[in-house]
Amino acid sequence: MAGCSEFDLIDRHLAGLGAERDDVLLGPGDDAAITQDGGRPLLMALDTLVEGVHFPADLPAYWVGYRALAVNLSDIAAMGGEPCWALLGLTLPAPDESWVAQFASGLGRLARASGVAVIGGDVTRGPLTVSLQITGRATGAPLRRDGAHAGDRVWLSGRPGEAAAGLAVWQQEGAREQARWQGLRQAFIAPRPRVALGQALVGVASAAIDLSDGLAADAGHIAARSGVALHLDPPRGRPSARLLRWAGEAEARRLQLGGGDDYELCFTAPREADVMVRAAARRARTPVRCIGEVHEGEGVWWGGEPILDRAAGYCHFVS
Ligand SMILES: [Mg+2]
Repeated sequence: MAGCSEFDLIDRHLAGLGAERDDVLLGPGDDAAITQDGGRPLLMALDTLVEGVHFPADLPAYWVGYRALAVNLSDIAAMGGEPCWALLGLTLPAPDESWVAQFASGLGRLARASGVAVIGGDVTRGPLTVSLQITGRATGAPLRRDGAHAGDRVWLSGRPGEAAAGLAVWQQEGAREQARWQGLRQAFIAPRPRVALGQALVGVASAAIDLSDGLAADAGHIAARSGVALHLDPPRGRPSARLLRWAGEAEARRLQLGGGDDYELCFTAPREADVMVRAAARRARTPVRCIGEVHEGEGVWWGGEPILDRAAGYCHFVS
């Protein structure tokens, strides 16, 4: 959900804050920070969900808890790490025990399934806000945003755009339409962080990011950090059939490139690694497809047209 002003604030005031330590291998600017103390590097990330901003006010507590962990797992996935420990900061308007029980049930179920222990945190009173800090272990050299090279291919997991459509279904449609578009709705409510895929891509992918702000903006982070251009190919990047059915061609494309909350992985890999990428995807039981190539230059391109306005931090494109 970060727009340019948030990135500017981080750059101007928050990047490189505090002491300089040589056990910090990577600071702000990627999906997770990397630190090291002796053994394997540790990956650390934090995400905050605010009611009405990052999730609708009528989202059941179970799914608020699930999402709070899922979005953090996704950042560890983007680095190819193994998620291990989480700290929870929960701000509640009132001490509502049944809400907290449901919230804990959603969070706890995903945490058990992904091998994460919730080891502490804080509960305070205020507008409903969930912050979760996650620490993971590197499973090899962590995947980063800055490793893409001209000549690499660009790959994508899953079906970006479906989560943004699912949020619209959740907010706008009646019960019958909600049932009809259940698959889209689930894409928003219960994103599946690609932890297994991220791990399988360690040593294979040259760069990776998870999609939280939309394919165009997030691919733009790989382009900017790697100093390259990502050229995406419309026929290979076609939206999913059900997204096309729900939204129509132009809107499906807009949601695919500009919608957020997908938590899929966009990654690059050398051409010679095609077979290894497909083997990694099979091992992780995750669908991936090649949607373009890395060129010299900058920005994100769609069918030869620039689609990312880096100055604005948002994408705009001809529909
Ligand atoms: Mg991320």
